[in-house]
Amino acid sequence: MRNRYDQEEARAFIARHPRCPADLAMRVYTSRLIGQESELVLHGGGNTSVKTTVTNLLGESMEVLFIKGSGWDLATIEAAGFPGLDLAYLRRLRRLASLSDEEMVNQFRTHLLDASSPNPSIETLVHAFLPHKFIDHTHADAIVTLTNQPEADRLLREALGEKIGILPFIMPGFPLAKAMAALQEQQPDMEYLVLKNHGIFTFGDTGEEAYTRMIEAVSRAERFIVAAVASQPVMASRQVAAADSTLVLPILRGALALPPAGGGGERRTVCLDLRADAAVLAALARPDAEALFATGVLTPDHVIRTKNYPLFIDCGAVPDEAALSALIHDRVAAYAARYEGYFAEQTAAKEVARTRLDSMPRVVLVPGLGIVASGTSVKAAAVAADIAVHTIAAKLRAAAVGEYRELDAGSIFDMEYWSLEQVKLGRGAPLPLAGKVALVTGGGGAIAVGIGRKLLAAGARLFLTDINEARLETVRQRLAAEFGGDRVSTLVLDVTDGSAVAGGMARLVAQAGGLDILVPNAGIAHVATLSELDEGKFRQVLDVNLLGVFQVIKAAVPIFRRQGTGGHIVVNSSKNVFDPGAAFGAYSAAKAGAHQLGKIAALELAPLGVRVNMVNPDAIFDAGEVSSGLWDVIGPDRMRSRNLDPQGLREYYRQRNLLKVEVTADHVGNAVVFFASGQTPTTGATLPVDGGIAAAFPR
Ligand SMILES: [Zn+2]
Repeated sequence: MRNRYDQEEARAFIARHPRCPADLAMRVYTSRLIGQESELVLHGGGNTSVKTTVTNLLGESMEVLFIKGSGWDLATIEAAGFPGLDLAYLRRLRRLASLSDEEMVNQFRTHLLDASSPNPSIETLVHAFLPHKFIDHTHADAIVTLTNQPEADRLLREALGEKIGILPFIMPGFPLAKAMAALQEQQPDMEYLVLKNHGIFTFGDTGEEAYTRMIEAVSRAERFIVAAVASQPVMASRQVAAADSTLVLPILRGALALPPAGGGGERRTVCLDLRADAAVLAALARPDAEALFATGVLTPDHVIRTKNYPLFIDCGAVPDEAALSALIHDRVAAYAARYEGYFAEQTAAKEVARTRLDSMPRVVLVPGLGIVASGTSVKAAAVAADIAVHTIAAKLRAAAVGEYRELDAGSIFDMEYWSLEQVKLGRGAPLPLAGKVALVTGGGGAIAVGIGRKLLAAGARLFLTDINEARLETVRQRLAAEFGGDRVSTLVLDVTDGSAVAGGMARLVAQAGGLDILVPNAGIAHVATLSELDEGKFRQVLDVNLLGVFQVIKAAVPIFRRQGTGGHIVVNSSKNVFDPGAAFGAYSAAKAGAHQLGKIAALELAPLGVRVNMVNPDAIFDAGEVSSGLWDVIGPDRMRSRNLDPQGLREYYRQRNLLKVEVTADHVGNAVVFFASGQTPTTGATLPVDGGIAAAFPR
């Protein structure tokens, strides 16, 4: 592992932060160096600290511990991510015989320098009780590869030398802090302190020294492992046929869906994240893959993200889709039963009452397909997937060094159900569409901006399709700027082309695992009276506005069926269906057809629990700088025929509805979210979004 410390860079970094104590600026600098290395820490893992003196309001000098705050990631941490605490006071806590977690957190919060600081790390007392100025702590892959072994002590000493302290696994918090301080007093010259099944601490008088020791220790462990791996014969892999992601992922996503919140409504689907690089596929093709990889976490910090065990499903010899579905559901149910058994055993053995977390796996390993990670958000699934990728690589190396040994169930339970760990998952009611995947066609237009914005605000993951890549990209960038890029994806395709739509759905499934909300929204306009309407133009409008709706509904049905979790289709119909206008025959006829298709879909898909509803908006001109493709075509004609300018045209449409409002793309988005969140048991219905037009009342 490369030592990234650079004297010049460090000096420049400190100079750029003149208002920050120099020790703290140095702490930020080397913390970020650690955070850059995914082999050291992942997603908020690890923590660092510095001890220094500051002058308080009264002009008195006081000793302060600055330690990483909860919710900060070392890669991007800033000085504000290091809450400062009264160090002299914290040290005195060591005298206590015991300290509850709640009281410990209370002591931290009441001894902060700044009341608005984030919560200090749960390992704060470890840092406070040790004497060193700079302390770095990571869960380095190479270190846990050596600690999670029956012969960990021997391996660690061989790899890291004699200036090392080793402790068995001890729950973080007060007991670990006391044990580490006692060990340090016995071995005052140790340079590395390794916690089995957990990670490593290094220390120094300077930021450079603590960091350099970390890199040195991890590099020594890596060299030791590389030598062990090199001495092993390469294991021949099995022949594993590629698994069909378009089948496996929706079935798996359905099997992983969580029970309805509060006992009623729809099952809650989850976000999936598939990782299928060559190294992962090769690892999963090993004959011993299940025995090696369906084992416990590298470090208990991962338990809340990945659960202790991944689920291993070999789909190899399954004859057909029905058998595949039965196999996947059986394996998931067996996993859940095992998890519930573990929970019951541990709560009984420890005589504690806890609320059980859901019993679904977070990581599923499928030979021929890859790692499938799940989460209630795109981010949670990605975190679980990143951890799983590192875990597989580390367990492979652990097998070469010796034998992978997982942590006992009792310690795992303590961490998994520790209130201070669960806090990291965040609280509060989830958004109504969290975990849902939505697809909106006509993604390059104004209405898609409103629909997309409201679906994203409600928590969904969004896919936008359009035939026009440039317009699609404009909308994507706009929504990504508002909601972050990880939940907005695009698919360039022609909705009139069945094979292009099927290909797009396959790409969507490979990326997100399935689909919950389909919004056929693509439409084009053409202005001509019937006597002047060109047949080719008529067919073109029918193709996009009617055939295009048929193609996407048809392609979505197998996904809904495989998932078995219901779903929603919201057809963007039009006020024209009920209240058509002259010279707009192609558009109105096509939209009326699509509207009727929606009703047929409502009839046919009800047995699958899929609800199909229609929204009928009127006259949406634009959404910010994104124009409506429809109004680009019909606007000039409408203005000519009524002798109006663009502003006058808006005003004309506003004045013609009962409520005298301008209908916006966001209004349409609200209507889509209303149906897509299943708030009423409604299917086959039409919701006008038009300010009230009596002639267009549904009948
Ligand atoms: Zn740790």
